[in-house]
Amino acid sequence: MTDDTRKTAPLFGGLTIDFGADAAGDAATLVPLSAANPIAIVSEPLPATGGPTTGGGGDGRTESKVVIVGSGPAGLTAAIYAARANLEPIVLAGAAPGGQLMITSDVENYPGFPDGIQGPDLMAAFRAQAERFGSHIVDVDVDRVDFSERPFRLWARGTEYRAQAVVIATGASAIWLGLESETRLRGRGVSACATCDGFFFRDMEVAVVGGGDSALEEATFLTKFARKVHILHRRDAFRGSKIMQARALEHPKIEVHFNTTVDEVLGVARVEGLRLRDTVTDEVREVPMEGLFIAIGHRPNTDVFNDWLDVDEKGYLVVHDQTRSKIDGVFVAGDVHDHRYRQAVTAAGDGCRAAIDAERWLEAEGIAEARTATAW
Ligand code: NAP
Repeated sequence: MTDDTRKTAPLFGGLTIDFGADAAGDAATLVPLSAANPIAIVSEPLPATGGPTTGGGGDGRTESKVVIVGSGPAGLTAAIYAARANLEPIVLAGAAPGGQLMITSDVENYPGFPDGIQGPDLMAAFRAQAERFGSHIVDVDVDRVDFSERPFRLWARGTEYRAQAVVIATGASAIWLGLESETRLRGRGVSACATCDGFFFRDMEVAVVGGGDSALEEATFLTKFARKVHILHRRDAFRGSKIMQARALEHPKIEVHFNTTVDEVLGVARVEGLRLRDTVTDEVREVPMEGLFIAIGHRPNTDVFNDWLDVDEKGYLVVHDQTRSKIDGVFVAGDVHDHRYRQAVTAAGDGCRAAIDAERWLEAEGIAEARTATAW
């Protein structure tokens, strides 16, 4: 996210955006030391309650024909469709609502926005549209579910929610390298979100790990701030798209290091360097570095559902017949099952399909009033 964007960040239906939680997290904790010595230091970590707040949790309903879990493009599109079908959905939006677009700056491929749109702006519009038709949105994480019988039960921050049908649209979260030093220095120069934190690395030398579109995009974005950006990729070829590769490879501020992994992040109070390994020669070297961005993919957010639903070999929820899970009445939409497309527009389409499928299923069960196919 750019400097200007930060200042003018759309306020999610008039509400506040706080990048304090995990996925979006490091931005709120990094502050420049001083203009003369622009080294990022960390302030006290914020409580993990980032994201827009509703200031009270909507209309207080805890029972509905449909509960939607998640509030990215999939969840909020499902909410728009379910609300317009008079299902009065409850959306359990997560403590950091809005999904991955809340930590994305320019969205240039979402149809309808020829000049692009900022990710948080887009999600604010989704949310306003879902609320306009009567969705009840609560910004809480679901801790536990019981899908053994209907009504299905879901618990979030001590409250029990009940629903005849559930749409799971919990998305996916950033994957980390798993180094102790990476965890320790998170928010002290280590980040998984260039769009959130790039601003704090003005005139610094930073590295991005990964070889997919995310890494290429983050590296290109970071050139707006950093003096120099190194891409560290474990293999000798990128997997990202040709156009993103060309943008990164041709950029004068970007240097690519193939066959390179990070063995350790160096530094005590902040990132000061990296211990790198050449994956071909096994040679280890230490280089000075002021920031490290991890862009090695995402993990689907399925923890609370794993006891009830099937996951595939990568951990994504399994669907059949488009949006159905193995439990009748539990539907799935978006990145939590889709590791192929993972786009805002495909997630939104998936949310639409899940809501339509849920409504038709509720009709068939005699729970929702029968409607015509054109009523949408
Ligand atoms: P990705 O395509 O899965 O790429 C992950 C990269 O991280 C790979 O290069 C992988 O290396 C590397 N990696 C994985 N684990 C690693 C580890 N432990 N240590 C070091 N490197 C590791 O993930 P992504 O880049 O986040 O993209 C996900 C999807 O979103 C893709 O379909 C992508 O096209 C899409 N996307 C699109 C855009 C855009 O169009 N603007 C932007 C971002 C993402 P290997 O190559 O060796 O496996």
